[in-house]
Amino acid sequence: MTVNSCFRLFVIRYWQIGANVQDMNIEKFCVKKDTKLDLKEHSTDSTGDYTDKAGAVEDLAKNVSRLKKLQDVLYAQDIFSLLIVFQAMDAAGKDGAIEHVMSGVNPQGVSVISFKQPSDEELSHDFLWRCQKNLPERGKIGIFNRSHYEEVLVVRVHPEILQGQHLAPEIKNDKQIWKKRFGRIRDWEQHLTENGTHILKFFLNISKKEQKERFLDRIEEEEKNWKFSMGDVKERTHWDEYMTVYAEAIEATSTEHAPWYIIPADRKWFTRLAVSEVIATKLESMDLRYPSVSDEHKAELAEARKLLENE
Ligand code: ATP
Ligand code: MG
Repeated sequence: MTVNSCFRLFVIRYWQIGANVQDMNIEKFCVKKDTKLDLKEHSTDSTGDYTDKAGAVEDLAKNVSRLKKLQDVLYAQDIFSLLIVFQAMDAAGKDGAIEHVMSGVNPQGVSVISFKQPSDEELSHDFLWRCQKNLPERGKIGIFNRSHYEEVLVVRVHPEILQGQHLAPEIKNDKQIWKKRFGRIRDWEQHLTENGTHILKFFLNISKKEQKERFLDRIEEEEKNWKFSMGDVKERTHWDEYMTVYAEAIEATSTEHAPWYIIPADRKWFTRLAVSEVIATKLESMDLRYPSVSDEHKAELAEARKLLENE
């Protein structure tokens, strides 16, 4: 090893020790209400203070334990719930982020719902119905893998989907339809937060180049073949339209109570760490406490102890 490479290794190691997940500037990812959003200004490949995967994986493990403890209190307190929305272009890593970030949490306290093309039954109701039906109960974390936002994203990019919805012509052809849907989404999310459901929304921001690499991996690696879909490659031809509708939707619906976080998604290890940090910070801000034990219950516990000891 040359003196030069030794020095480089030392600098990298020193830098890694310096990276601390609790110092991560998560506010940088948060879209503030009423600010103009230009997605081009948001990095897809930033890794913050982390220069390689090892340090990030170590810190993700710490956050996984942190989340496990916080979720236990959320469940015991049984007053709040947390709804986490994931939206992204194909292959941006929604599934992997959900799997890794939630890996330590008690499965009984979490539900993950993947929203696909709506069924006939779902199409027979308003566009928020299926989401309302799948909200987390109090005490639980609910994850939406895709969500009600598809109704202002894919439906907007493909006008034929809207034409196929069972709606009156004056609604389908209303030029204000997207603006109205943004408004109803904001109202619905406000209603939820006023009733104890806290909300976080993530847009995993992958570059077009990285998406291509991941599709090629899905073609080349046999174990990933099943993930490949020709439809995803076709959808990619609408990339610019998607970027426009994503920017408009995020800008119109990022509110104080239900903020959007735009997370760089070209490095999966950083995406997972950043998502875990935003969720843990949110749960820590939620005034979670184990329920206090009443005097009556304390007396009951003492009595039960006596009974058990005298058995
Ligand atoms: P991956 O990232 O692994 O491809 P995915 O979330 O894209 O996962 P798929 O089964 O590939 O899952 O695709 C689900 C499809 O359903 C997406 O193309 C999405 O746009 C579409 N979809 C979801 N909600 C709606 C909706 N309300 N109307 C029309 N299409 C929808
Ligand atoms: Mg897909």
